[in-house]
Amino acid sequence: MDKIKRIILFPIPMSICNFRCHYCYLSQREENFQNEQPTFKYSPEHVAKALSPERLGGLAFMNFCADGETLLTKDLDKYIFELVKIGHYAEIVTNLTVTPIIDEILSWDKEILKRIEFKCSFHYLELKKKGLLDKFAANVKKIWEAGASANIEITPSDELIPLIDEVKEFSLQNFGALPHITIARNDDSKDIDYLTNLPMNEYDKAWSQFESDFWKFKKSLFKVKREEFCYAGDWMLVVDISTGVASQCYSSRYSFNIFESVTKPIPFRAIGKCNLPHCYNGHAYLTLGCIPNFTDIKYGDIRNRLKADGSSWLQPELCSFFNTTLCENNEEYSNSKKMLTKLRNNTEIIRKIPRKLVRKIKK
Ligand code: SF4
Repeated sequence: MDKIKRIILFPIPMSICNFRCHYCYLSQREENFQNEQPTFKYSPEHVAKALSPERLGGLAFMNFCADGETLLTKDLDKYIFELVKIGHYAEIVTNLTVTPIIDEILSWDKEILKRIEFKCSFHYLELKKKGLLDKFAANVKKIWEAGASANIEITPSDELIPLIDEVKEFSLQNFGALPHITIARNDDSKDIDYLTNLPMNEYDKAWSQFESDFWKFKKSLFKVKREEFCYAGDWMLVVDISTGVASQCYSSRYSFNIFESVTKPIPFRAIGKCNLPHCYNGHAYLTLGCIPNFTDIKYGDIRNRLKADGSSWLQPELCSFFNTTLCENNEEYSNSKKMLTKLRNNTEIIRKIPRKLVRKIKK
């Protein structure tokens, strides 16, 4: 059975989107929707060499997510193909409406499709407004028929609450189960909070109807600062797929290019102390084990749903892989290595301070 060795996140610098969801803080920014595609500095074959299982020490869970609609990124399918072909598992975050590219991916060999999961963002109001609900449902069905995995996730918004019964009926009919619920937060630049005008008890009452373990786990992490030693940076990397610049996590202490030379060892180094107010995407990073033994809840289980006909949203191989954890396949640091790592990370921060300022501080 395949086991996870590392998480590789690809935040794709591409903000084109065919939707304008009212709760998407990216859509409110002027700089977005400029119709600009990223320039890929390296070919798909080169990127696959740079991220080979040999160089990473094993197989990775790879998440592809653009600032806009991921599947509108030109040539992204070629990168996904090369990376999954060599054994890695891919999660593609998508609004599932760009049918030509979905069809292209679903034409690949079944062995490859077994390792692909579409994280289908179910933007009900926008889909309804654009008359695309049936297209979305048809694409979900196609994914399952082709042998890949799909999970359906709703971004909760106050405006959707009056339509909850309709959403449930549509979901049971088309997905064989209720969608999972994520947590929408307000604009990144402000104090992090739930995106709602409702008191918490009303918010909980509305969204708990979906009995989503995914939502429950995300809620348990929301606004809770992590103090444990975190292995992001060693067991996980955030990589700009267009340039190869890698960092430890969103609040990285240092960055390095892992595509320039495919033979040089990657300088994996844990971040240790998290700098963020809370672990935004801990539903993946913490269930997959960036902080060892943090929870018994497994990523595959909280992404999956059993359908009324007894089949599942996730294919069995992919679900088993998603249910393995990083600590099964990586060694934890000794206490002295943890101390040294934290010290080295702080040194990197000091290095970034302009020399003039350092001299001033020393005085
Ligand atoms: S706790 Fe979460 S957000 Fe913080 S460094 Fe670790 S993985 Fe990243």
